[in-house]
Amino acid sequence: MIDLARLGEAVPTTVVERIRSARNVLAVGHENPDADTIGSTLAICRLVERAGGRATAVFGDSIPPLYDFLPDVGRARTDPEPDAGYDLLVVSDCGSLERIGAVAARHKDLFERLPRVVIDHHASNEVRGEADWIDPAAAATCEMTTLLAVRLGAPLDDGDGGLAALLMAGIVMDTSTFAHPNTTPRTLTVSAALVEAGAPLSDISRRLYRSKPIAQLRLFGVVLARLEVAAGGRIVHTSLFDADLAATGAIPAHSEGIIDLLAQAEESEIAIVFKEAGDVTRISVRTKPGGVDATVLTGAFGGGGHARAAGATIQLRVPEARPVVLAEAERLIAAVAR
Ligand code: 5GP
Ligand code: MN
Repeated sequence: MIDLARLGEAVPTTVVERIRSARNVLAVGHENPDADTIGSTLAICRLVERAGGRATAVFGDSIPPLYDFLPDVGRARTDPEPDAGYDLLVVSDCGSLERIGAVAARHKDLFERLPRVVIDHHASNEVRGEADWIDPAAAATCEMTTLLAVRLGAPLDDGDGGLAALLMAGIVMDTSTFAHPNTTPRTLTVSAALVEAGAPLSDISRRLYRSKPIAQLRLFGVVLARLEVAAGGRIVHTSLFDADLAATGAIPAHSEGIIDLLAQAEESEIAIVFKEAGDVTRISVRTKPGGVDATVLTGAFGGGGHARAAGATIQLRVPEARPVVLAEAERLIAAVAR
């Protein structure tokens, strides 16, 4: 048996104590949820319930169909239960509290009143509450939540193996199945323990990264066909419009993954996807090791994320946002030796 007890010492005692003593937890993830925020949030619910407490899982947006295979996704809500008597808020995988999205604004009093635990791995996170646990060395929030499970004394193979599957999914998502440089010996040790506990690693990886509806492949085709380069090829970018969804039969969640395909451009050091989002533009950015820090580029527009993968919302339509972002990207890349 792989023993994670020593690695579990990284979990702050205040975090363990708050979750252990909570009776009714409001567990929330970020808007546009992905496998890391879903896996951690639903795992927190299982951990609380296992200890005899109650828990509600909330994400500001509904869960994309891609994640339907994960256990417990059916219990996700887009708002807290009214008058539930929550006594703790647990926020997973949100690089800032704004990342929770509109649901936090809709229930401002509740979110501000509740004692809080934040579990997150974004280096740009600036929360500093007494039970806010930020570990930028973690590849995924689920890597941290696995250690929390250990500290709470929960066997990783608890129940039907669902706990291990949820936690594994977040790690697979954020490391692209251990391919990103955020993967550390600890990531692999934690993952080995999850596989030992029954997490279907290969199945999770295939579903998250190597299986797509045909409509999504058609969308990728349209958006990739539109790619352009800037700074002599050092920047590669493309744009995705609502009309592309209509033309291909794709849904908004199908835009997930285009940025990672674009980032495969051999000649380019910065990849950017501009996504129409009503009157504003969402950007996804990927950069190569040793080059521009993606959080510096997105930070110029109020966004954030990680050094190699980040995002932001620009308060302009795509044709207006594009030249502004490209100018900043060109400025930053000019300072990096080729
Ligand atoms: P993606 O491009 O896959 O949407 O996001 C890449 C990374 O950047 C993710 O880790 C995500 O958490 C972070 N991110 C994306 N958009 C935003 C944003 O608007 N603000 C912040 N702070 N982080 C973001
Ligand atoms: Mn994450």
